[in-house]
Amino acid sequence: MAKSVETIAPESDMLPPLGRRNYDSDFAPHLGLVLASGANLAIVWTGALLSGSRLLFALAVAMTVLVTIRLGLALLYAATSRSIVRKRLAPVVLGTEAIMSTNIGLFGAFALALQIDNHLAMLALAYSLTYATGMPVRCANRPFYARLHMGLVGIPIILAALYLGTPGMLVLALTLPGLAITMDTLTQSIYSNLCNIVRISQERKDVSEQYHFLALHDGLTNLLNRDGFHHALEDLRVKYGPDQRIALLWFDLHRLRDVNEGQGYAAGDKLLCEMARRMRACTPDDAVLARFGSDEFLLAVPVASRANAEQLVNRVSDRLNRPVRLDFAVVEAGTAIGVAILGEDSATVSHLMQAANIALMQAKEEKRLSCFYVPDMSRRRAERKEMERDLRAAIMRGEMAVHFQPLIDLDTGSIRCFEALVRWTHPEKGQISPEVFIPLAEETGQIITLGNWVTAQAARAAATWPEHVKLAVNLSPTQMRAPGAALGILHALRQAGLAPSRLVLEVTESVFLEENVHARRFMDDLARTQVHFALDDFGTGYSSLSYLHRYHFDKIKIDRSFVCGPEVGAHSDAIIRAVAGMGRKLGMEIVAEGIETLEQAQSLRRAGCTLGQGFYYSRAVTAQGAQELLAREAENLNHFDIAL
Ligand code: C2E
Ligand code: MG
Ligand code: MG
Repeated sequence: MAKSVETIAPESDMLPPLGRRNYDSDFAPHLGLVLASGANLAIVWTGALLSGSRLLFALAVAMTVLVTIRLGLALLYAATSRSIVRKRLAPVVLGTEAIMSTNIGLFGAFALALQIDNHLAMLALAYSLTYATGMPVRCANRPFYARLHMGLVGIPIILAALYLGTPGMLVLALTLPGLAITMDTLTQSIYSNLCNIVRISQERKDVSEQYHFLALHDGLTNLLNRDGFHHALEDLRVKYGPDQRIALLWFDLHRLRDVNEGQGYAAGDKLLCEMARRMRACTPDDAVLARFGSDEFLLAVPVASRANAEQLVNRVSDRLNRPVRLDFAVVEAGTAIGVAILGEDSATVSHLMQAANIALMQAKEEKRLSCFYVPDMSRRRAERKEMERDLRAAIMRGEMAVHFQPLIDLDTGSIRCFEALVRWTHPEKGQISPEVFIPLAEETGQIITLGNWVTAQAARAAATWPEHVKLAVNLSPTQMRAPGAALGILHALRQAGLAPSRLVLEVTESVFLEENVHARRFMDDLARTQVHFALDDFGTGYSSLSYLHRYHFDKIKIDRSFVCGPEVGAHSDAIIRAVAGMGRKLGMEIVAEGIETLEQAQSLRRAGCTLGQGFYYSRAVTAQGAQELLAREAENLNHFDIAL
């Protein structure tokens, strides 16, 4: 109970400026003001005319002037809506009212003191005291003025009563201060109640504003949230009209998860706030900026043209992709941006959102910084989604098969290895290239199931081959990162009865584009069990040669673009020679991929390659086909002799 009183009781230094808030209702013309003005004039003029006193006459004239001024001020106050004018009028009104109170006090005092007529004295006294006790109610929102008015009216009457000195007048003089104190207490009470009401309603307003803000904003970055974004985008459309083009940029931060996992959530929060700050800093003031989900942001900006939107995207992308300094490290947050333009790519906000999101996915898939929506994207994405679904069911439905392509010793012409290559025969679309579905399987994570299945199938086939023939299996970076990846491969080998030393895992340079602890651990674990590694598609990546030194590679497979195809020439020949020379010195085998002609085979051998693979020798064949190739070799019918 005591607590609730404590919270409600007003604290004088916290009281809101009530007096200032109520000028409008006090100062504008109202019925009370008109009636009081009429009563003032009627009473003072009655007194002045009945008494014939010059003094009372002068006071009546003064009152007439004051009432006129007061009414004039009230009309002026109502006529202007400019707050500065109203502010200036306020003290003039308060001053006029104070002079009126003085006038009424003097009128009462003189009507008593002059002892002209008892009825007149009663009229003046009753009028003055009614006025004096009415003022505290009128000024309940300004206690100082309530006291001032009571004093200005009451003090002259008290003085007049003391001057007359009769017992009745003395009682009046003594009781009037008590009456004033009583009225003051009432004023204080009304005032404090008013303060509480104002304070409570202000608090409610603050809380509701806070809730409103929280409902529409993201708590961490203070950017708009999903709901806030929709509201603000609608406002933007209303502001600029339906013909205005609005570019919608949908951002995705690549590294938030890594930062959260590696450096903790506080660092992740810091990264998000920094990104929000950068976005705000490089976008126009009326841009609508929101955080969507954990690592996605949206930005809507009115633009004049597509070129204008491109400039904006470049500017924002450049800013966001600069490194961010966190507590323990400097990170590149890496953002992808999908862009769609309202009024060009889409007519409605919901389609705009869809289009920007599709463009973002495209940017992410193609590992681009940004991507603008094109209508074809929706169709391609739908096809992809369909393929993703089909791929998931393909193994179960027996649509997948593992084929084998031989790797030939360029010196002896004998088969040294078979590379396992997965094949997908779709029931409606026919053969689908691994170059189409492997990247899809990588993105969706299905590569782990698919890769395990390929390894198991291939190992089972390889277990039937002669000991000296190895099995090469392609491995994607996602597979290497999967928990228990090394154990999974060893398990497949054990199940098939294939020695680990007969397995070669082909990995591409992309695995090493960033320092990869998982890849390192994976390769260390398997190298210890005698599994071999080949660096596939050599020459197509961007990483440094240092990983050749750091990781356990036994083979380098020179990408087929250096061997066959339009780019082949003196340059590629020189590169092959250099790589072969390096391989020899490092004790590695050099495999030339994509050999399609005898001439290519001969020149690659001369260039120093030790193994060859390509259509010239054989396309990828079924497990049965691989058996037949091996059988022919065993019967000394080696048709690869022509390569020598
Ligand atoms: P890759 O590992 O470089 O495989 C060699 C690719 O070159 C195969 O394409 C093969 O058919 C093709 N090729 C072989 N000889 C010639 C030739 O003389 N001329 C031409 N033009 N091409 C030749 P394929 O089978 O389409 O596989 C493409 C890529 O798909 C592979 O490249 C590999 O990166 C990936 N892949 C295939 N199977 C698997 C798998 O089981 N797992 C994983 N992770 N990736 C696989
Ligand atoms: Mg390969
Ligand atoms: Mg290759």
